[in-house]
Amino acid sequence: MPAVDWARVRADFPVLEREVHGKPLVYLDSANTGQKPVAVIEAVDDFYRRHNANVSRAVHALGTEATEAYEGARGKLARFLNVHADELVLCSGTTFAINLVAYSWALPRLKAGDAIVVTRMEHHANIVPWQLVAQRTGATLKVAELDANGDLDLDGLRALMTPEVKLLALAHVSNVLGTVNPVREICREARKRGIATVVDGSQAAPHRPLDIAAIGCDFYAITGHKMSGPTGTGALWARREHLEAMPPFIGGGEMIKEVRFDGTVFNDPPHKFEAGTPNIAGFVGLGAAVDYLSTLGMEAIETREQALLAHATEAMSAVEGLHIFGRPREKAAVVSFLVEGAHAHDLATLLDLEGVAIRSGHHCAHPLMQHFGVPATCRASFAYYNTHEEIDAFVAAIHKVRRLLA
Ligand code: PMP
Repeated sequence: MPAVDWARVRADFPVLEREVHGKPLVYLDSANTGQKPVAVIEAVDDFYRRHNANVSRAVHALGTEATEAYEGARGKLARFLNVHADELVLCSGTTFAINLVAYSWALPRLKAGDAIVVTRMEHHANIVPWQLVAQRTGATLKVAELDANGDLDLDGLRALMTPEVKLLALAHVSNVLGTVNPVREICREARKRGIATVVDGSQAAPHRPLDIAAIGCDFYAITGHKMSGPTGTGALWARREHLEAMPPFIGGGEMIKEVRFDGTVFNDPPHKFEAGTPNIAGFVGLGAAVDYLSTLGMEAIETREQALLAHATEAMSAVEGLHIFGRPREKAAVVSFLVEGAHAHDLATLLDLEGVAIRSGHHCAHPLMQHFGVPATCRASFAYYNTHEEIDAFVAAIHKVRRLLA
């Protein structure tokens, strides 16, 4: 493989040429949402300019083109994830995908006495739906804890996998600590015990080669806007037998074969779960994003981001009073931190004035904040389009802000 010219890649992202507060933008918030290359922006633009029509309805030329573009995006995404296209439900993102499993798979199955296991590092999107299911079914929620490095306590997790557990929901990669969980091993253990697994891949799909078939989970959720694609796009992959057995979650047009007042025949999966007009242009953009990522190569992206992470970790560790949360065995390019004497929001606000965009807050992970005994952290998250110079600018800005706050 020829080496990727990362300077040229960066030039594909118009927003990165911006200035904020009179300083060049240093965008370190890709775990929140990723920036979009011009190929994605143009694909969405081209769809609206030349092809716009609804899908799966009209026989006219534009209707056919729109349907082909939408289904083409499903195919591209399926190949990217190494799954079959007819096992991929397109939806608005991970939040919808997990709720689909909660309402269509878990709610009809679980009952009082059953248990659901989640981990301490989950995003609220992989906690709250299970709490709602637990409340409505009488099932209980059990929590897999972390060790001091921010890795899952695997012995503890194994001990939680008792016969009443029907479902295990866990992140592939933590959005706060960057911890990469050994999902393959965990899903294998769960499967041996008859426990279904839901993997939240929001922070994995944008950053590493993915082979969902090899993971051996039951459900895998992704969100397109973190993968250089448009907002409001995402997908749930589920084993075919689940999709066939699950009742629809949302009813309406597109998801039916025949509607009669004495009963409706639903469409085949995945369409059974895609009621209403989908985000067609968004998925066309996501298809372009997947093409873009595939051309760069996910291995190259992972290597690039690991180099940025190593640089950032070293430079940040040299800042006096800066504490990094979590030192997991395997880590994605996300660094959560606090600087002594500075509130997370103050630090992020002052960094913004230097042109540096990071996130501060609880990162939709209250239970993880409770674990660390802090209300909030700062989080710098890196993507392949970031540069080593930006990391230097970011760390220089932290030094400057520290002096201001001293
Ligand atoms: N899970 C994780 C780990 C996330 O990082 C996010 C996004 N912050 C979500 C779920 C929710 O994704 P979305 O809001 O796109 O549905």
